Amino acid sequence: MKQYELLINGRYVPAQSGETFTVINPATGEPVAACAQAGVSDTQAALQAAHDAFPAWSRTSGRSRSEIMHVAAALFRSRIGELSRLLTAEQGKPLKDSNKELQFSADVIDYYAEEARRNFGMHFEGDGVPTHSFTMRQPIGVVAAITPWNFPVDLLSWKVGPALAVGCTMVIKPPSEAPLAVSEFIRCFIEAGLPSGVLNLVMGPGRPVGSEMVTNPLSRKIAFTGSTTTGLWIAQEAAKQLKPATLELGGSAPFVVFKDADLDLAVSQALRRAFSHAGQICISVNRIFLHESISKEFTDKFTAAARKLKVANGLEFPDADLGPMISESGRQTVREHVSDAVAKGARVLAGGHEPQGVEFSKGYFYLPTVLTNVTPDMRVMQEETFGPVAPIATFKTVDEGIDMANNSPYGLAAYVFTNDLNTAMYAAERIQSGGVGININDITDIRAPFGGMKQSGMGRELGQQGLDSYAEWKHVRVLMKKPE
Ligand code: NAD
Repeated sequence: MKQYELLINGRYVPAQSGETFTVINPATGEPVAACAQAGVSDTQAALQAAHDAFPAWSRTSGRSRSEIMHVAAALFRSRIGELSRLLTAEQGKPLKDSNKELQFSADVIDYYAEEARRNFGMHFEGDGVPTHSFTMRQPIGVVAAITPWNFPVDLLSWKVGPALAVGCTMVIKPPSEAPLAVSEFIRCFIEAGLPSGVLNLVMGPGRPVGSEMVTNPLSRKIAFTGSTTTGLWIAQEAAKQLKPATLELGGSAPFVVFKDADLDLAVSQALRRAFSHAGQICISVNRIFLHESISKEFTDKFTAAARKLKVANGLEFPDADLGPMISESGRQTVREHVSDAVAKGARVLAGGHEPQGVEFSKGYFYLPTVLTNVTPDMRVMQEETFGPVAPIATFKTVDEGIDMANNSPYGLAAYVFTNDLNTAMYAAERIQSGGVGININDITDIRAPFGGMKQSGMGRELGQQGLDSYAEWKHVRVLMKKPE
């Protein structure tokens, strides 16, 4: 079995303890690879390496940083075929989805490589006083980047791209469920000529590895994507040192269909966003709200289509609609949420259990599930199920639809389907979420800020905002005097 090591100060090394852990294929239960399991002392060594590398890297020209990043992205692109298989083996998503994730990750690095050359401030003259002011955008320091398993490479690229572009160094902790494609992604930067210590990789558990990265004073910025529970803890720890933190947390995206919507478009878009990646996306459709006049037609079409989705091992069926869930505990949450809904009166129109058959017996599969007769008190309507479950409720007026969408502690993504511009704008203004898709089921664009309101997080990634969150702005003010 292949062994993956930690990357500290430009060298691949085993953990000081010699410990390893095994990464399991969630579709088959078979081992994929073994990884060195970092502890506190490895994490401290990685932070020290990033700290030591910072002065030189932060003063490297934007052009040099950009060139290394472009070479790394090109190397990574040349390996996407092989690495998609690795990502599917460790994470479970079908091969076509792994390929898409890795292509997007390469695009993000190229995008921020270009931004590295435009990493400058601005200039203005005094407002009534004879001064010149200019601003410098300076890298914040060592970044602790901690990521989840659902998009392990993509969500890391959102952090590595802007952090390197601005001139930060990093310690990276990928999820223990899926650290392998991440490790290969980072290797491309090393092969591209990134100086030692600029990127360091520690694999291991949230505690003590991630927690050491958060609390150690050598890290000057936390870039975290993961659950709201972990994010709340990180926010409190970071506050003790006034350490800035970007927190991309859980979601419970509403999908609101008004009476004038293009129903076939709405059905196909809801289907993909509710069930792809087995519903394990922070911007997955979690709650569907239908105007009562179109509710029957939408529900019939949506249910029929959900029943036809292909659930399979994504290595054997690259074009499957969904693979397994990541773990038994994730699947158990889905079972509990469905049972809770049924006990409170929901009807199961599709799925509601695991698929039958020997090919599913060792993996964490669950069928695409459609629920109706749902009420706001059900766990599926209030908590993040993070599985392939789509609960459907109806509304009578535009305001009622919007209120139902906002009845959640989360506020990451929302989707609105209507052909009326006024309804679209009215809803987009009032829905409490960091992104709103109008007649589209994705709010992700490299150039646009991505992030959440309420319990979905703090700060934004991607776009210009994503770059700014790795920088300190410095204002330099110069008094102009008449020369003697
Ligand atoms: P998680 O919070 O359990 O783990 C995320 C990462 O944090 C892992 O690497 C984990 O090892 C680490 N971690 C755990 N405890 C820690 C601690 N005390 N200190 C530091 N690090 C710690 O989340 P998960 O189950 O891996 O991921 C699923 C969650 O991520 C879902 O809630 C999902 O909505 C969210 N998510 C959010 C976004 C977004 O952009 N908002 C994107 C993807 C996933």
